[in-house]
Amino acid sequence: MKVSPSLLSADFGHIAREVEMLNRSCCDMIHLDVMDGVFVPNISFGFPVIKAVSAVHLMIVRPEQYVSQVRDSGAALMNVHQEACVHLNRTIAEIKRAGMKAAVTLNPSTPVCMLEDVIGDLDMVLLMSVNPGFGGQKFIENTIAKVGRLKELIARTGSHAEIEIDGGVNAETAPRLAAAGADVLVAG
Ligand code: ZN
Repeated sequence: MKVSPSLLSADFGHIAREVEMLNRSCCDMIHLDVMDGVFVPNISFGFPVIKAVSAVHLMIVRPEQYVSQVRDSGAALMNVHQEACVHLNRTIAEIKRAGMKAAVTLNPSTPVCMLEDVIGDLDMVLLMSVNPGFGGQKFIENTIAKVGRLKELIARTGSHAEIEIDGGVNAETAPRLAAAGADVLVAG
């Protein structure tokens, strides 16, 4: 099981110290929630902070505008919302052409079947287990069954995509998510 700590819970007054602490820890990658105040009802980090981390989860409208900027900031993985991309196939191709791993996120209300035609191109699928916008929310229980449905889709299509979960991950939900088939857990 991989762990991806979210910088949303960091002490922003000492962000360099927080990132150094994570770099010395056994975590696998740092997760950065970029919020635009349009796609989600909150605003978080911009490009100066993106430069410090490896995995960028863009909770923004029109994320395809920022592919080269995210790549130039050194991110290894770019994660966009299915709900924010009208031309998702094209956006995934552009992320991969830029040399990054491609991930797509589904909001709690978006079914797994929306990824049926792109799953073979994805390195990761992130299931939101809360409605995106804020840290510290309560886990949405349907996520456990949804991990199973995603696992089925991945097996049926021969995709190599990892399953990541974001929101409400704690000591109670983490083992259940692992048992359901999640590969990476984001935690605050
Ligand atoms: Zn996230």
